[in-house]
Amino acid sequence: MSRGTDRRLAGKVALVTGAGAGMGRAFAERLAAEGADIVAVDLDEAALDAAVRSLHEHGHGVLAVPADVRDQGALDEAVRRGVEQFGGLDIVVANAGVSRNPGPSWTIDEAEWDLAVGVNVTGTWHTVKAAAPALTERGGGSVILISSTAGIKSVPGAAQYSAAKHAVIGLMRTLANELGGKSIRVNAVLPGAVNTAMTNNPATFARLRPDLENPGADDVAGVLAARHLLPIPWAEPEDIAHAVAFLASDESRCITGQQIVVDAGLTQKVA
Ligand code: NAD
Repeated sequence: MSRGTDRRLAGKVALVTGAGAGMGRAFAERLAAEGADIVAVDLDEAALDAAVRSLHEHGHGVLAVPADVRDQGALDEAVRRGVEQFGGLDIVVANAGVSRNPGPSWTIDEAEWDLAVGVNVTGTWHTVKAAAPALTERGGGSVILISSTAGIKSVPGAAQYSAAKHAVIGLMRTLANELGGKSIRVNAVLPGAVNTAMTNNPATFARLRPDLENPGADDVAGVLAARHLLPIPWAEPEDIAHAVAFLASDESRCITGQQIVVDAGLTQKVA
C-alpha cells in the first residue's frame, strides 16, 4: 500500500474469524497490509490455506487455525496459540457468519434456526469470550463485530438471520459497557449487500428475479441498485474493510458502542 494510512497497525495482532473467504479474507488482507500479524480462523480448511498463502505476501506473521466458531475450546486454543506466537492480541474481528433465506418465520425448521444463532450469535460471543482476557492483558484493544443491515431492518423470509444479527448489536452494546473500563472498544459494522458468495449466488439471483429462468449477477444489479440511495448494486469486501481498518486503528480511539452502517444508503432510502 502507498496511502497515508500505511502501517497504522504496525506491532498489532489481529484475530479474524471467517478469514478464509469473502469479507473476512478482505479484512485480514487489509489489517495485514497495515502492519498487523494475523490469527486467521475459518471452518473451511482449503479456503483458509489459500487465504493464508496470500496473507504471507505482506511479510507479517500469519497463524492459520481451522476452527468452527461454535466450538469455544477451539477458539480458546486459537487465541492461546496467537498470543504464544505473536506476544499478545489487540484486535478482534468477529466476522464468521451464515445467511440463508428459508422462508416465512413459522416454516423455519429447528436446524436452520440453530445454525443461524449458533454461528452468528453464539460464535460471536465465543470469539469475544476467548479474546477478552488477552485484550485485557494487553491493556486495551478493539473488538469489531460484523452484524448486517439485517441487524436493524427486517428481512422477510430470513427471520433466523435478522434475529441473529439484531442480537449481535445487543451483544456489542453490552460488551462495550463491560469492557470500556479496560480500554477495550467494541463496535459493530453493518454491511448492506456485498459482493461475496453469500449474496452473489444463484439462489439469491433467483429470489431477486423470479421472472427469469437462470438469472445472473447482471440481471439482479438493477434490482439491488434500486434499493440504494447511491446508484451501485453492492459494495465490494474492500469497501467494508475500510470501516474495519478505521475501527481497528487508534484513529477511532474515542469510539465505542457504535454501529457503522456501510450500505450505499439502503437503510435510509425513503420509498
Ligand atoms: P462468505 O460466505 O463469503 O464467507 C464466510 C466465511 O466464514 C467462509 O470462509 C466460511 O467458511 C466461514 N464460516 C462460516 N461458518 C463458520 C463457522 N461456523 N466457523 C468458522 N468459520 C465459518 O460470507 P461474507 O459475505 O464474507 O460474510 C461475512 C460476514 O458479513 C457474515 O457475518 C455475514 O453475515 C455478514 N454480512 C454479509 C453481507 C453480504 O452481503 N455478503 C451483508 C451483511 C453482512
